[in-house]
Amino acid sequence: MTGRACLEQGLQALPMDIPASAVDQFLEFSDRLLEKNKVMNLTAVTDPDEVISRHFLDCAVLAPRMISGEKMIDVGTGAGFPGLPLAILCPDTQFVLLDALRKRIDFLNETIEALGLRNVTAVHARAEEFAKEHRAAFDGAVSRAVAGLSMLSELTLPLVRTGGVFYAMKAEQCEDEVAAAGEAIRILGGAPAAIEHYTVPVSGIPRAVVVIRKTEDTPAKYPRRFAKISAQPLGGK
Ligand code: SAM
Repeated sequence: MTGRACLEQGLQALPMDIPASAVDQFLEFSDRLLEKNKVMNLTAVTDPDEVISRHFLDCAVLAPRMISGEKMIDVGTGAGFPGLPLAILCPDTQFVLLDALRKRIDFLNETIEALGLRNVTAVHARAEEFAKEHRAAFDGAVSRAVAGLSMLSELTLPLVRTGGVFYAMKAEQCEDEVAAAGEAIRILGGAPAAIEHYTVPVSGIPRAVVVIRKTEDTPAKYPRRFAKISAQPLGGK
């Protein structure tokens, strides 16, 4: 099966309408990603078919959960995952792609411009700094492969309004990580996390999304500034 056919089949498996422009935008994104990856560290994936299965279709699974008119943030977006696939698939939802590395944000802004997307912007900042000016400014957040859930929740939940939802994309086996983050999530204003398992369309790769609904404001002292992503997490064991 060609990359285009694989992408079309995977997107058709989603319970939502796919914008007519989406497949061409994904293929253009893939070309740009692999080309830029030759001179900059954007992804460990170098095969175009794997870009579709391991990046695009994995991230696309969150798209049916996005709500028209809402404003979402992708914390630690890297080369745009999961936020850019979601912006392609959900033109009526607004996205901010946040990352601490300037070169990745420059790549994303060039790509957003080339794809003609009007519902997404890329911002260079550390989440801890960004939260000072954008506290509770988002209806929801998404994140994949950035940090352990305890620390990731501290970086992300302060940006989400009370009543909003944080979707953390995780490996299939994440029960221990979720259990260890329970106290931190509670302190940060989140309800107990729910783990939802899924398989990526076409490839069948098993994955999980951790769903955290924010039920109370996050105390003002969070997030703390982490010198390194491996710093001692809040409520960590
Ligand atoms: N989410 C992408 C994915 O799934 O491919 C990228 C994952 S990459 C392993 C982690 C990214 O998080 C890096 O691009 C890094 O610069 C970013 N990051 C780490 N700590 C951050 C922070 N405190 N604020 C913003 N971005 C951060």
